Amino acid sequence: MIEQYQLRVQPAVAHSEAELRRYVSSRYGIKHSDIKGLRIVKRSIDARQRQVMVNLTVLVAVGKQAEFTPRFEPIRYRKVDGHRQAIVVGAGPAGLFAALRLIELGIKPIVLERGKDVESRRLDVARVSREGVVDPDSNYCFGEGGAGAYSDGKLYTRSKKRGDIDRILRIFCQHGAKEDILIDAHPHIGSDKLPAIIKAMRTTIIDCGGEVRFGTKVTKLLTDGDAVAGVLAGDAEFRGPVILATGHSARDVYQMLAEAGIELEAKGIAVGVRLEHPQHVIDEIQYHSKAGRGQYLPAAEYSFVTQVDGRGVYSFCMCPGGVVIPAASADGQLVVNGMSPSNRGTYWANSGMVVEVRTDDVDEQLYGADSLKMMRFQAAMEREAWEQAGRSQRAGAQRMVDFVEGRESKLIPPSSYPAGVQPSRLDRWLPPMVAGRLRRGFAKFGKMARGFLTNQAIVIGVETRTSSPVRIPRDAASLCHCRLRGLYPCGEGAGYAGGIVSSAVDGERCAEALAEAMSAE
Ligand SMILES: Cc1cc2nc3c(=O)[nH]c(=O)nc-3n(C[C@H](O)[C@H](O)[C@H](O)COP(=O)(O)OP(=O)(O)OC[C@H]3O[C@@H](n4cnc5c(N)ncnc54)[C@H](O)[C@@H]3O)c2cc1C
Repeated sequence: MIEQYQLRVQPAVAHSEAELRRYVSSRYGIKHSDIKGLRIVKRSIDARQRQVMVNLTVLVAVGKQAEFTPRFEPIRYRKVDGHRQAIVVGAGPAGLFAALRLIELGIKPIVLERGKDVESRRLDVARVSREGVVDPDSNYCFGEGGAGAYSDGKLYTRSKKRGDIDRILRIFCQHGAKEDILIDAHPHIGSDKLPAIIKAMRTTIIDCGGEVRFGTKVTKLLTDGDAVAGVLAGDAEFRGPVILATGHSARDVYQMLAEAGIELEAKGIAVGVRLEHPQHVIDEIQYHSKAGRGQYLPAAEYSFVTQVDGRGVYSFCMCPGGVVIPAASADGQLVVNGMSPSNRGTYWANSGMVVEVRTDDVDEQLYGADSLKMMRFQAAMEREAWEQAGRSQRAGAQRMVDFVEGRESKLIPPSSYPAGVQPSRLDRWLPPMVAGRLRRGFAKFGKMARGFLTNQAIVIGVETRTSSPVRIPRDAASLCHCRLRGLYPCGEGAGYAGGIVSSAVDGERCAEALAEAMSAE
């Protein structure tokens, strides 16, 4: 017999199966020797009270016949050699999940990726930190796995469609992720584990007869009347309907589409800084204890949101036990972001702290009035950060209280940021509508959580790549571009997703829409 129980236990009990079996036995009066198996199916931490508790849903196998079924049935991908083909531009989460779904639907994907495979890419991302050199086709944003490859690998999303999300998580597991991601309320994979999973996805695509071509930058869409017929990459033509999943950093793609007269829309974004605390400060605040997280709790997370002068100010992409990274995708830019290893075990905690910027907030005299104006505003902030850093990747930083009080920080405490930090008056050179709101937002957050507003923390600038500054409009039903048949704008870069999971879900949806259109031809 399999019984399901909702448990609320102390972290030490949740941590050990033996302890959990003892707990279930005494709480529900089941003979200890009758418990043949115990499986956690949901896990979340409740840190609202002084005593932190863990909420668990467990299945308990009682008696002789009881056996658990596997957590999921792996998808059987079929061979697609010789089948009709579709072009997938970009091998980020949207592109990879689109390709896998196309295979399931019997269509051969040709994946074109401007960057390198995920292993070779490692050397290029290391060079950004070591030498300050950014390869415009292989960096923290571009290359196999896309922007999500060297990330925290947080897999939660605000999207409510549980079925779609669970499917994405199971596909990650089928390609090597730990089954814990199916259990945890806030699942994450970690930058050390993601590359092997991405490589396994590529292997599935190729083994089934799909193609993955690296170093293949798409420079033009081929059209035939009001339909897209394929793409051009260098001298090579690739024919078929196109899923365009190039992410939010491919400014040359937006430029190329705008120059070709393809309809685009400017989109609101959120920009600001990375905030870095020692992780123990966050643990002490979130777990209400000077002793920090102890032996059984993970590095603590936080999430803040407020309104200042009619605009949202909020934390974004929090990386417990992580590092701040240089995420520029071209020379002459300084952009920071964050990632964590699977154990979230570094000394530091970081998050983006950003201010909402609407399309009518930016100066049209400076940035234009067209669909690319938010992109120009974003690029100008990154250029300014690079100039302020003496044209290097050594990012400008300021202590948090000094930033709020408008003071210079003479000394910057050690930081995880591998390219190095240097004192800088971010309060002065960030756009005033951003700096002013951040300062007041931080003051509010300091009141919400005592100890959060501290000079042990630093702000590092700038964080600008939180979402796409452009939307590529598509029809809500067919998911095709509103004017061009056969073009499926997809994922974060199209403005229809934000984050790994929602981009993956969008990749699958575009593949399904494309397959439906193909079968109707
Ligand atoms: C450092 C960092 C950490 C992050 N951490 C998290 C996290 O923990 N959790 C989370 O949910 N999200 C995180 N994100 C955001 C997440 O990575 C993105 O939302 C997601 O990757 C978007 O997926 P995508 O496939 O739409 O685009 P991308 O991942 O950006 O992929 C686009 C791909 O297209 C390729 N490409 C671009 N132009 C061309 C061209 N012309 N021809 C061919 N190929 C091209 C690029 O090289 C790239 O590989 C993080 C992002 C960064 C940068």
